[in-house]
Amino acid sequence: MPAQNPLDRLELFPVSTRVENTPAGSRLSVAGCDLEALAGEYGTPLYLYDRATLDSSVQAYKEALAAAYPGASGLTYAGKAYLCTAIAQWTQVHDLWVDCTGEGELHMAAQARLPRQHILVHGVNKSPADLEAAMAQAGRLVFDNPIELERLVSLYRERPGPSPELWFRLRPGLAVDTHKHTRTGQGDSKFGLNVDEARRAIRLCLEMGLPLTGLHFHLGSHFRDPEPLGPAIETSLDLIAELRRTTGWLPETLSPGGGWGVAYHESELPQPRIDTYVNFIAGKVIAGCQQRDLPLPRLQLEPGRGLVARAGVALYRLGVVKESADRRWLLLDGGLSDNPRPALYQTRYSALPVRDPDRPQTGPAWLGGPFCESGDVLIEALPMPAVLPGELIAVPVSGAYQLSMASNYNGARKPAVVMLQDGTARLIQRRETLDDLVRRDAPLFT
Ligand SMILES: *Cc1c(COP(=O)(O)O)cnc(C)c1O
Repeated sequence: MPAQNPLDRLELFPVSTRVENTPAGSRLSVAGCDLEALAGEYGTPLYLYDRATLDSSVQAYKEALAAAYPGASGLTYAGKAYLCTAIAQWTQVHDLWVDCTGEGELHMAAQARLPRQHILVHGVNKSPADLEAAMAQAGRLVFDNPIELERLVSLYRERPGPSPELWFRLRPGLAVDTHKHTRTGQGDSKFGLNVDEARRAIRLCLEMGLPLTGLHFHLGSHFRDPEPLGPAIETSLDLIAELRRTTGWLPETLSPGGGWGVAYHESELPQPRIDTYVNFIAGKVIAGCQQRDLPLPRLQLEPGRGLVARAGVALYRLGVVKESADRRWLLLDGGLSDNPRPALYQTRYSALPVRDPDRPQTGPAWLGGPFCESGDVLIEALPMPAVLPGELIAVPVSGAYQLSMASNYNGARKPAVVMLQDGTARLIQRRETLDDLVRRDAPLFT
């Protein structure tokens, strides 16, 4: 294992992270908050969101769009990365749209009183209840397949009152370079319509007088080479040009999805640049529209992890240090239940101890949780110092697809979540209680 400066990992942490010198040694802090005090108050595992990092990631996307794209543009936060009332409220501080998958996330958005115009609904195999909720609440509904479109035709006919604009999801037959479980645009993916199905669907929308205003695709998540977006944009613009010729229809909005990667581990540094991604897309759309003599569509990007991943830190308490064969195990009080991503996608995370994070590393460690699963390993072979039971371990880049995928496996209670800003912490989700675990149960006997 090559020697490393442990503090290289700070680049993975929220922008407000510091190593503070105290009389008792150095300490990791986020947004000026003492992590040991927070863990004492709220218990562990504890999830922290740094407001400054959330805000600066939105700013980076907005600035890149404004600089690279002369047409109208906007951002939709992919809510499935992590949604709760406070995060939904935060999106409105920045005027973001929020992508909700189904009636559950729509209910969460409703708690934060999101306006209809800021709600967009995605989903493959939306249930009748999902479609009803979308009709009632969303400003835009992205249909995925011909059967769903047939259901929508009747809903639009029968339902009085305002209804969402429609977009369709194209499956361009290409995917980005990422784990096979996060690819979505390839020919055999379960998502979206192929070009032929899209042609037929658009004709049906036009015949039925449905308000079709957008074309969407999403090639996959967590990629750092934008190249595959090029041919997908070309395919979309070809289809748009053809439909304009044959039907006169033009979409107001083109949405090339989200999925731009973030660094989860020091080997993935430097951070993939947001402007690289945005410039690439804007360049392709501008050139492609010029070639085909098309007006510039509104360009709507859909980042999820790109807005929230780096803002999040998971804090765990180290319980047991053990050696098995030649492995050093650090057993934490969370893992698979609050972060299934290493098990699902082999995501490689990093970590630092909160106390003296600059201590020299003594060798690799395997960080595991308390769960009865051999796959409950958060981090493999991470160089770590000689940490002791009772210490706090901070895992950066924990803001996306962790809590939203959390489970109650082994009776785990979902962690508390706090938002940190300027030295203060605000509880935005309380830790589940033991009673929460049995709240839905009905007895077999009384
Ligand atoms: C998940 C998803 C996104 C966001 O992906 P990230 O990797 O979090 O940026 C955007 N659009 C659609 C349709 C998605 O399913």
